[in-house]
Amino acid sequence: MKIVSTVKELKTLREELKGSVGFVPTMGAMHNGHLSLIRQARIQNDAVIVSIFVNPTQFLPNEDYEKYPRREEADLKICTLSGVDILFMPTKEEMYAKTEPEILAPVNLAYILEGGSRPGHFDGVLRVVLKLFNLARPTNAYFGKKDAQQLYLVQNMVKTLFLNVNIVPCDIVRESDGLALSSRNVFLGKKEREQALSLSIALKNASQAIMKGERDAKNIELIMLDSLKDLRVDYAKALSRDFEAKEKITVKETILLIAAFVGNTRLIDNLWI
Ligand code: AMP
Repeated sequence: MKIVSTVKELKTLREELKGSVGFVPTMGAMHNGHLSLIRQARIQNDAVIVSIFVNPTQFLPNEDYEKYPRREEADLKICTLSGVDILFMPTKEEMYAKTEPEILAPVNLAYILEGGSRPGHFDGVLRVVLKLFNLARPTNAYFGKKDAQQLYLVQNMVKTLFLNVNIVPCDIVRESDGLALSSRNVFLGKKEREQALSLSIALKNASQAIMKGERDAKNIELIMLDSLKDLRVDYAKALSRDFEAKEKITVKETILLIAAFVGNTRLIDNLWI
Protein backbone atom coordinates (compact mmCIF):
# COMPACT_ATOMS: atom_id res chain seq x y z
CA MET A 1 0.00 0.00 0.00
CA LYS A 2 1.26 3.46 -0.89
CA ILE A 3 0.56 6.18 1.62
CA VAL A 4 0.50 9.75 0.34
CA SER A 5 -0.38 13.08 1.84
CA THR A 6 -0.03 15.50 -1.05
CA VAL A 7 -2.27 16.16 -4.01
CA LYS A 8 0.74 15.93 -6.32
CA GLU A 9 1.69 12.45 -5.13
CA LEU A 10 -1.87 11.21 -5.38
CA LYS A 11 -2.23 12.55 -8.90
CA THR A 12 0.98 10.84 -10.00
CA LEU A 13 -0.07 7.50 -8.51
CA ARG A 14 -3.57 7.79 -9.97
CA GLU A 15 -2.08 8.26 -13.43
CA GLU A 16 -0.34 4.91 -13.06
CA LEU A 17 -3.51 2.96 -12.18
CA LYS A 18 -5.08 0.82 -14.88
CA GLY A 19 -8.63 -0.46 -15.02
CA SER A 20 -11.43 0.34 -12.59
CA VAL A 21 -10.80 2.30 -9.43
CA GLY A 22 -12.89 1.98 -6.28
CA PHE A 23 -12.77 4.91 -3.88
CA VAL A 24 -13.77 5.02 -0.21
CA PRO A 25 -13.69 8.47 1.43
CA THR A 26 -13.53 8.35 5.23
CA MET A 27 -12.66 10.45 8.25
CA GLY A 28 -10.72 7.55 9.77
CA ALA A 29 -11.09 6.00 13.25
CA MET A 30 -12.12 3.00 11.21
CA HIS A 31 -14.50 0.27 12.27
CA ASN A 32 -16.22 -2.62 10.53
CA GLY A 33 -18.55 -0.20 8.76
CA HIS A 34 -15.62 1.39 6.95
CA LEU A 35 -14.12 -2.05 6.41
CA SER A 36 -17.27 -3.29 4.68
CA LEU A 37 -17.04 -0.39 2.21
CA ILE A 38 -13.37 -1.12 1.54
CA ARG A 39 -14.07 -4.84 1.10
CA GLN A 40 -16.79 -4.14 -1.41
CA ALA A 41 -14.49 -1.74 -3.27
CA ARG A 42 -11.73 -4.38 -3.28
CA ILE A 43 -14.04 -7.03 -4.76
CA GLN A 44 -15.50 -4.80 -7.46
CA ASN A 45 -12.43 -2.90 -8.74
CA ASP A 46 -8.92 -3.37 -10.10
CA ALA A 47 -7.53 -0.81 -7.66
CA VAL A 48 -8.72 0.74 -4.40
CA ILE A 49 -8.07 4.24 -3.10
CA VAL A 50 -9.06 5.18 0.46
CA SER A 51 -8.87 8.67 1.91
CA ILE A 52 -8.68 9.61 5.56
CA PHE A 53 -9.41 13.25 6.12
CA VAL A 54 -11.23 14.85 9.04
CA ASN A 55 -12.79 17.54 6.91
CA PRO A 56 -12.97 20.87 8.78
CA THR A 57 -15.59 22.43 6.48
CA GLN A 58 -18.26 19.92 7.45
CA PHE A 59 -17.97 20.66 11.17
CA LEU A 60 -19.78 23.61 12.70
CA PRO A 61 -17.73 25.94 14.93
CA ASN A 62 -19.15 24.42 18.15
CA GLU A 63 -18.76 20.81 17.02
CA ASP A 64 -16.23 18.08 17.78
CA TYR A 65 -13.67 18.72 14.99
CA GLU A 66 -10.77 18.93 17.44
CA LYS A 67 -12.06 16.02 19.50
CA TYR A 68 -13.03 13.80 16.58
CA PRO A 69 -11.30 10.44 17.16
CA ARG A 70 -8.03 10.05 15.26
CA ARG A 71 -6.42 6.61 15.16
CA GLU A 72 -3.90 6.70 12.37
CA GLU A 73 -1.89 3.61 13.24
CA ALA A 74 -4.88 1.31 13.58
CA ASP A 75 -6.34 2.75 10.37
CA LEU A 76 -3.11 2.05 8.49
CA LYS A 77 -3.22 -1.58 9.59
CA ILE A 78 -6.85 -1.97 8.56
CA CYS A 79 -6.14 -0.49 5.13
CA THR A 80 -3.01 -2.58 4.58
CA LEU A 81 -4.72 -5.81 5.59
CA SER A 82 -7.76 -5.13 3.43
CA GLY A 83 -5.71 -4.68 0.27
CA VAL A 84 -5.95 -0.93 -0.26
CA ASP A 85 -3.59 0.24 -3.02
CA ILE A 86 -3.40 3.94 -2.20
CA LEU A 87 -4.15 5.64 1.09
CA PHE A 88 -4.53 9.40 0.85
CA MET A 89 -4.13 11.30 4.13
CA PRO A 90 -3.90 15.00 3.33
CA THR A 91 -3.62 17.95 5.70
CA LYS A 92 -6.30 20.62 5.64
CA GLU A 93 -3.82 23.04 4.05
CA GLU A 94 -3.33 20.55 1.23
CA MET A 95 -7.06 20.32 0.60
CA TYR A 96 -8.13 23.94 0.97
CA ALA A 97 -6.87 27.26 -0.32
CA LYS A 98 -7.50 30.58 1.35
CA THR A 99 -9.67 31.70 -1.53
CA GLU A 100 -11.76 29.25 -3.48
CA PRO A 101 -15.32 28.71 -4.75
CA GLU A 102 -17.71 27.16 -2.30
CA ILE A 103 -20.36 24.58 -2.97
CA LEU A 104 -23.86 24.92 -1.59
CA ALA A 105 -25.98 21.84 -0.99
CA PRO A 106 -29.54 22.15 -2.40
CA VAL A 107 -31.53 24.32 0.02
CA ASN A 108 -34.55 22.02 0.25
CA LEU A 109 -32.37 19.30 1.72
CA ALA A 110 -29.46 21.18 3.23
CA TYR A 111 -31.34 22.55 6.22
CA ILE A 112 -33.54 19.66 7.31
CA LEU A 113 -32.71 16.63 9.46
CA GLU A 114 -28.90 16.53 9.74
CA GLY A 115 -28.72 19.92 8.07
CA GLY A 116 -31.33 21.32 10.46
CA SER A 117 -29.07 20.69 13.42
CA ARG A 118 -25.91 21.20 11.46
CA PRO A 119 -26.53 24.07 9.01
CA GLY A 120 -23.70 24.22 6.50
CA HIS A 121 -22.62 20.65 7.22
CA PHE A 122 -23.60 19.33 3.80
CA ASP A 123 -21.97 22.26 1.99
CA GLY A 124 -18.71 21.08 3.53
CA VAL A 125 -19.42 17.43 2.73
CA LEU A 126 -20.14 18.09 -0.95
CA ARG A 127 -17.19 20.43 -1.22
CA VAL A 128 -14.71 17.84 0.02
CA VAL A 129 -16.31 14.94 -1.85
CA LEU A 130 -16.11 16.86 -5.13
CA LYS A 131 -12.45 17.68 -4.49
CA LEU A 132 -11.71 14.05 -3.62
CA PHE A 133 -13.55 12.79 -6.72
CA ASN A 134 -11.47 15.16 -8.87
CA LEU A 135 -8.30 13.69 -7.39
CA ALA A 136 -9.16 9.99 -7.17
CA ARG A 137 -11.18 9.99 -10.43
CA PRO A 138 -12.94 6.83 -9.26
CA THR A 139 -15.00 4.45 -11.37
CA ASN A 140 -17.01 3.53 -8.27
CA ALA A 141 -17.27 5.39 -4.96
CA TYR A 142 -18.60 3.72 -1.83
CA PHE A 143 -20.87 5.43 0.70
CA GLY A 144 -22.66 3.98 3.74
CA LYS A 145 -26.45 4.08 4.03
CA LYS A 146 -25.77 5.00 7.66
CA ASP A 147 -25.42 8.60 6.44
CA ALA A 148 -28.54 8.41 4.32
CA GLN A 149 -28.94 12.13 3.68
CA GLN A 150 -25.27 12.45 2.75
CA LEU A 151 -25.59 9.51 0.36
CA TYR A 152 -28.63 11.10 -1.25
CA LEU A 153 -26.94 14.48 -1.64
CA VAL A 154 -23.80 12.93 -3.10
CA GLN A 155 -25.92 10.95 -5.58
CA ASN A 156 -27.76 14.16 -6.43
CA MET A 157 -24.49 16.06 -6.96
CA VAL A 158 -23.13 13.33 -9.23
CA LYS A 159 -26.32 13.30 -11.28
CA THR A 160 -26.82 17.04 -11.60
CA LEU A 161 -23.16 18.05 -12.10
CA PHE A 162 -22.79 15.17 -14.59
CA LEU A 163 -19.87 13.63 -12.70
CA ASN A 164 -18.40 10.49 -14.14
CA VAL A 165 -18.59 8.19 -11.14
CA ASN A 166 -20.88 5.41 -10.02
CA ILE A 167 -22.05 5.75 -6.41
CA VAL A 168 -22.40 2.43 -4.59
CA PRO A 169 -24.63 2.55 -1.48
CA CYS A 170 -23.49 0.12 1.23
CA ASP A 171 -25.59 -1.46 3.99
CA ILE A 172 -25.32 -0.32 7.59
CA VAL A 173 -23.02 -2.50 9.68
CA ARG A 174 -24.22 -3.05 13.25
CA GLU A 175 -22.96 -4.53 16.51
CA SER A 176 -24.56 -7.90 17.33
CA ASP A 177 -27.09 -6.14 19.59
CA GLY A 178 -28.16 -3.74 16.83
CA LEU A 179 -26.18 -0.56 17.56
CA ALA A 180 -25.01 0.95 14.27
CA LEU A 181 -21.23 1.22 14.18
CA SER A 182 -19.93 4.78 14.36
CA SER A 183 -16.56 6.35 15.06
CA ARG A 184 -18.33 8.37 17.74
CA ASN A 185 -19.38 5.23 19.69
CA VAL A 186 -16.00 5.42 21.48
CA PHE A 187 -17.35 8.46 23.33
CA LEU A 188 -20.07 6.35 24.99
CA GLY A 189 -19.66 5.32 28.63
CA LYS A 190 -20.99 1.95 29.78
CA LYS A 191 -24.45 3.21 30.69
CA GLU A 192 -24.62 5.37 27.56
CA ARG A 193 -23.71 2.36 25.43
CA GLU A 194 -26.84 0.64 26.78
CA GLN A 195 -28.97 3.73 26.25
CA ALA A 196 -27.68 4.04 22.68
CA LEU A 197 -29.49 0.82 21.84
CA SER A 198 -32.76 2.77 21.94
CA LEU A 199 -32.06 4.07 18.43
CA SER A 200 -32.02 0.67 16.75
CA ILE A 201 -34.83 -0.57 19.01
CA ALA A 202 -36.97 2.40 17.96
CA LEU A 203 -36.36 1.57 14.29
CA LYS A 204 -37.18 -2.09 14.93
CA ASN A 205 -40.40 -1.28 16.78
CA ALA A 206 -41.48 1.08 14.02
CA SER A 207 -40.73 -1.45 11.28
CA GLN A 208 -42.66 -4.14 13.16
CA ALA A 209 -45.66 -1.82 13.41
CA ILE A 210 -45.42 -1.21 9.65
CA MET A 211 -45.22 -4.97 9.04
CA LYS A 212 -48.41 -5.34 11.09
CA GLY A 213 -50.14 -2.83 8.83
CA GLU A 214 -49.65 0.62 10.41
CA ARG A 215 -49.27 3.13 7.59
CA ASP A 216 -49.76 6.47 9.32
CA ALA A 217 -46.42 8.29 9.31
CA LYS A 218 -47.23 10.32 12.43
CA ASN A 219 -48.11 7.15 14.39
CA ILE A 220 -44.87 5.54 13.29
CA GLU A 221 -42.97 8.62 14.47
CA LEU A 222 -44.76 8.38 17.84
CA ILE A 223 -43.73 4.75 18.17
CA MET A 224 -40.10 5.76 17.57
CA LEU A 225 -40.32 8.65 20.03
CA ASP A 226 -41.75 6.32 22.67
CA SER A 227 -38.74 4.00 22.36
CA LEU A 228 -36.45 7.04 22.55
CA LYS A 229 -38.09 8.64 25.60
CA ASP A 230 -34.96 8.39 27.76
CA LEU A 231 -32.86 10.29 25.21
CA ARG A 232 -32.75 13.87 23.97
CA VAL A 233 -34.22 13.36 20.53
CA ASP A 234 -33.21 15.61 17.66
CA TYR A 235 -35.58 14.02 15.14
CA ALA A 236 -37.44 10.77 14.58
CA LYS A 237 -39.03 10.83 11.13
CA ALA A 238 -40.77 8.57 8.65
CA LEU A 239 -40.18 10.11 5.22
CA SER A 240 -40.15 9.17 1.58
CA ARG A 241 -36.74 8.11 0.32
CA ASP A 242 -36.25 11.53 -1.18
CA PHE A 243 -36.78 12.98 2.29
CA GLU A 244 -40.27 14.37 1.81
CA ALA A 245 -42.97 14.16 4.47
CA LYS A 246 -45.88 11.93 3.51
CA GLU A 247 -49.04 11.23 5.49
CA LYS A 248 -49.04 7.57 4.55
CA ILE A 249 -46.12 5.21 4.48
CA THR A 250 -45.47 3.26 1.29
CA VAL A 251 -43.37 0.15 1.69
CA LYS A 252 -40.17 0.17 -0.44
CA GLU A 253 -40.38 3.98 -0.68
CA THR A 254 -39.85 4.96 2.95
CA ILE A 255 -36.96 5.73 5.22
CA LEU A 256 -37.09 5.95 9.01
CA LEU A 257 -34.50 8.37 10.39
CA ILE A 258 -33.38 9.10 13.93
CA ALA A 259 -30.88 11.47 15.51
CA ALA A 260 -30.59 11.57 19.29
CA PHE A 261 -28.14 12.58 21.97
CA VAL A 262 -26.83 9.93 24.32
CA GLY A 263 -25.17 12.06 26.96
CA ASN A 264 -23.22 14.55 24.86
CA THR A 265 -22.79 12.22 21.93
CA ARG A 266 -25.09 12.73 18.96
CA LEU A 267 -25.90 9.47 17.19
CA ILE A 268 -27.83 8.79 13.98
CA ASP A 269 -29.43 5.68 12.60
CA ASN A 270 -31.95 4.80 9.92
CA LEU A 271 -33.86 1.98 8.32
CA TRP A 272 -35.03 1.69 4.73
CA ILE A 273 -38.59 0.35 4.65
P1 AMP B 1 -16.97 8.61 8.13
O1 AMP B 1 -15.57 8.19 8.39
O2 AMP B 1 -17.83 8.65 9.35
O3 AMP B 1 -17.07 9.85 7.28
O4 AMP B 1 -17.60 7.46 7.25
C1 AMP B 1 -17.04 7.06 6.04
C2 AMP B 1 -18.02 6.22 5.28
O5 AMP B 1 -18.35 5.06 6.06
C3 AMP B 1 -19.36 6.94 5.01
O6 AMP B 1 -19.78 6.65 3.70
C4 AMP B 1 -20.27 6.35 6.05
O7 AMP B 1 -21.63 6.36 5.66
C5 AMP B 1 -19.76 4.93 6.13
N1 AMP B 1 -20.15 4.32 7.41
C6 AMP B 1 -20.00 4.83 8.66
N2 AMP B 1 -20.54 4.00 9.57
C7 AMP B 1 -21.05 2.95 8.88
C8 AMP B 1 -21.75 1.76 9.25
N3 AMP B 1 -22.02 1.47 10.52
N4 AMP B 1 -22.12 0.91 8.27
C9 AMP B 1 -21.84 1.19 6.97
N5 AMP B 1 -21.19 2.28 6.55
C10 AMP B 1 -20.80 3.15 7.49
